[in-house]
Amino acid sequence: MAWPFRRKREMPEGLWKVCSGCDKYVYKQQIEEALNCCPECGEHFPLSGYPRIDVTADPDSFDEIASDVISKDVLGFVDGKGPYAKKLKKTRAKSRASDACVVGRARIDGVATILGALDFSFMGGSMGYAVGEKVAIALETALAEELPCVIFSASGGARMHEGALSLMQMAKTSAAVHRFKERGRWPFISVLTHPTTGGVTASFSALGDITLAEPKALIGFAGPRVIENTIRQELPEGFQRSEFLMEKGYIDRIVPRNEMRETLSKLFTLLLPIS
Ligand SMILES: [Zn+2]
Repeated sequence: MAWPFRRKREMPEGLWKVCSGCDKYVYKQQIEEALNCCPECGEHFPLSGYPRIDVTADPDSFDEIASDVISKDVLGFVDGKGPYAKKLKKTRAKSRASDACVVGRARIDGVATILGALDFSFMGGSMGYAVGEKVAIALETALAEELPCVIFSASGGARMHEGALSLMQMAKTSAAVHRFKERGRWPFISVLTHPTTGGVTASFSALGDITLAEPKALIGFAGPRVIENTIRQELPEGFQRSEFLMEKGYIDRIVPRNEMRETLSKLFTLLLPIS
């Protein structure tokens, strides 16, 4: 294709994006075709809940469950930016999703599975009642229907607006994983994407039978600055990134987005329960 524009200022807005990985101008359509990755350097841009399902599940195979589970402002929480109830309403109006998690039945390369994805674009993917409940329902449904469960995480942690209720989701989701592992015949595959932090890292997302991660994803509990200030030591290069955590044994495999479906499919074949 011929280079259509001679100077940067002639570029029509909205068609191009400057890649945060390589600083090059990249055609947005090419990014979309590369599953929201940079076609030049492979930088993985974020995917919200439904697009994540779209690039992972077989076409038209996703059937959402628990879509009526929503968070409520039970504490009447107000922060510097106003009431939580108002923020929830505004975020829902902007988003396709009712909260920061989407779960449902799907097929991945023909294999029936329960698939879930956290949505960082919805209040930082924070885990309040709705997210925790949907994750627990996903695991319980997978257990009842004897299916594997795959959950993609992307989260800033617990949702502070729901106080202790959001912290309880850590115990609830961890217990759901435990029950699934104890009684289920399939594996729970946890996929960590950029960023997976706080209460989500400290609960279900760290409990996968198999833990996969996208390249260069930030994964950790507290942020690097908090840790540096606490231990008063400089942190090593690449600290809390997928590659570093893979080296330390926290992650089983780093999987680029365009290889995710194939990898999950291979894992299902390898881990197929003996009937
Ligand atoms: Zn790039």
